[in-house]
Amino acid sequence: MAETRYEVAIIGGGPAGLTAGLYTARAGLRSLLIERGAFGGQILNAPLVENYPGFPEGISGAELGALMHRQAAKYGLKTVTTDVTAVKTGKTHKITTGKGDYKAEAIIIATGSEYSKLGVPGEETLMGHGVSYCATCDGFFFRKREVAVVGGGDAAITDALELVQHASKVYVIHRRDQLRAGKVLQKRAIAQPKIKFVWDSVVEEIVGGEVVKALRLRNVKTKKSSTLEVAGVFVAVGLKPNSQQFANIVKLSQTGHINTDEFMATSAPGLFAAGDVRQSSARQVATAVGDGATAALSAFSYLKG
Ligand code: NAP
Repeated sequence: MAETRYEVAIIGGGPAGLTAGLYTARAGLRSLLIERGAFGGQILNAPLVENYPGFPEGISGAELGALMHRQAAKYGLKTVTTDVTAVKTGKTHKITTGKGDYKAEAIIIATGSEYSKLGVPGEETLMGHGVSYCATCDGFFFRKREVAVVGGGDAAITDALELVQHASKVYVIHRRDQLRAGKVLQKRAIAQPKIKFVWDSVVEEIVGGEVVKALRLRNVKTKKSSTLEVAGVFVAVGLKPNSQQFANIVKLSQTGHINTDEFMATSAPGLFAAGDVRQSSARQVATAVGDGATAALSAFSYLKG
């Protein structure tokens, strides 16, 4: 029968979870990582990760995720692919999954976050082919091309300001005529000649065959439709932390992120959180990896007194 009792269970197999697993397994703790999909988390969407140290030529997100998984498994991290449906805390915590129950004395939550989607035709099929949720990761691929950013918050404006370094023109498509982004960012974007605002407009469809060719827009005030030809579209309409199933066991911030201290400890004894799911995450692979290592060291201290 498969082992169901562990010293540490890690939920989520992105960079934070895989690093936590590498550290706990290498420290000799019986460790299980539970991932519902493929190992690597959000970096799986990145064709090329260029800002993770150690890979001067860059590395594909899928390859980086696979390497992280292989490294942790080499030191004894066990993994299971299934959904976590419930977590019950106690002296020993119980994790209910689609493949049965697991018991662990410490848990590291590394479930990440998901980019909110527009939910329009073309968005899913053209993801990675001109539709992106990360200007830092993918902006470089649009050198001297025209691109669009959807959203009016800090992320959208930060993305637009980053994209002008590569693109020849950046359209910011916002559903209202006022930005939600902070004033400093707004001022910078308005002063940037390569940025053009398309106000009161929503994307109705992302058009393309193999790659993005255009956006079909609708002005919410005039109700008129129009077509905007762009080579890429960066969707920046918010992020949702994958934290809801832990809301009854750990404290969440107003934005739904898990509150932690600097040691990645949550409000519940023996429960730690790492990576994008926790508040104040910088949402970078490098910082998620750091969080994972810190959470693992804290779990080790917790278990060994
Ligand atoms: P956000 O502040 O929630 O902004 C989301 C934007 O997307 C809003 O402008 C919203 O429009 C728009 N939007 C939402 N759903 C939409 C839809 N279905 N269709 C079209 N537009 C839609 O999210 P965020 O910009 O990702 O920022 C998240 C947090 O991270 C914020 O606290 C932000 O301050 C922080 N952050 C800070 C920085 C920075 O300081 N440099 C950078 C990135 C993020 P409405 O305005 O009409 O609601």
